[in-house]
Amino acid sequence: MTDIKSMTLPELRDFLQGLGEPAFRGKQVFSWLSRGVGSFDEMSNLPLSLRERLKTACILSVPTVARKQVSAKDGTIKYLWELADGNCIESVLMRYHHGNTVCISSQVGCRMGCAFCASTIAGKVRDLTPGELLDQVVFTQKDSGAPISNIVLMGIGEPMDNLDAVLKFLELVNHPDGLNIGMRHISLSTCGVLPGIRRLAEQALQLTLSVSLHAPDSETRSRLMPVNRAYDVEELFAACHAYFEKTGRRISFEYAMIDGVNDQDWQADLIAKRLKGMPGHVNLIPLNDVAESPFRPSRRTAAFQKRLESHGLTATVRRSLGGDIDAACGQLRRKAEAEKGEDSQ
Ligand code: SAH
Repeated sequence: MTDIKSMTLPELRDFLQGLGEPAFRGKQVFSWLSRGVGSFDEMSNLPLSLRERLKTACILSVPTVARKQVSAKDGTIKYLWELADGNCIESVLMRYHHGNTVCISSQVGCRMGCAFCASTIAGKVRDLTPGELLDQVVFTQKDSGAPISNIVLMGIGEPMDNLDAVLKFLELVNHPDGLNIGMRHISLSTCGVLPGIRRLAEQALQLTLSVSLHAPDSETRSRLMPVNRAYDVEELFAACHAYFEKTGRRISFEYAMIDGVNDQDWQADLIAKRLKGMPGHVNLIPLNDVAESPFRPSRRTAAFQKRLESHGLTATVRRSLGGDIDAACGQLRRKAEAEKGEDSQ
């Protein structure tokens, strides 16, 4: 069976031509898929015989809402989607002045093992397909009625650990006959998987690369993020400089402020030293408390921000949305899994 939602427009055209259809059918099917149809019967401009043929040749699965939490404070919506195989993933709709943003997951679970993150505790189950990546955007828009203008790949999973699917997804979501979301409205966040950063640099896309830095020194970073033992932070900074040179795009560095671990002035100084020569933006994130983690939120965020700014860096503190609805990283999926576990006991 063909996974029709994961096909790019040229692939769809070829596929349909192989079934003896004219080339323009590709575009028709492609735009239906970007509108979130639930069955081939909804594709009303296709001949009946073709719809029947597609039903026997292709999978057209849709995610269903397993849970949905709406923040009474700011309208943030957290979705827990159930996929065709019963696995669940999260997406979050955030309403900003500059437009509606959806934060999507790239994998079911995560194998990166960051010590402060809820998404990785139970490991990775599987990669998502390009169609499942796209559906998070399409169905968040459809269910909420909020037109989506921005996408952040910052949900559960490591995008660079599933880069083939992610690159294909970018092509799908960016296409004028699809959702037509511009690359400059898309951010991709990585914990620092260097081969992925290098490969993305080769594509020279205009999206925003976010790097989860969390510590500028090897010792602290290895303690927080096992990925640093494979790809050391010094090499990471070198890859970031190369990325900037190749793409001309400013990188955004994510930095969760952890009490007594990564919030010291010398660490701000080291960030500045390592970013010299490229325009970096540091996004300071108030640490979300994860029950299983020994880390607590820093009380020095403002001082750390000032210290970074004293070196001429731009540093912002992330405004937190959806605090009343478990909107942070993997928390809803974990809660649902835990409750499933209790039910089956
Ligand atoms: N794997 C990718 C994207 C998913 S995580 C990455 O690591 O970038 C999205 C962001 O949330 C990352 O910057 C991650 O480090 C951060 N994060 C994870 N757990 C957090 C927590 N408890 N508090 C604050 N930020 C957290």
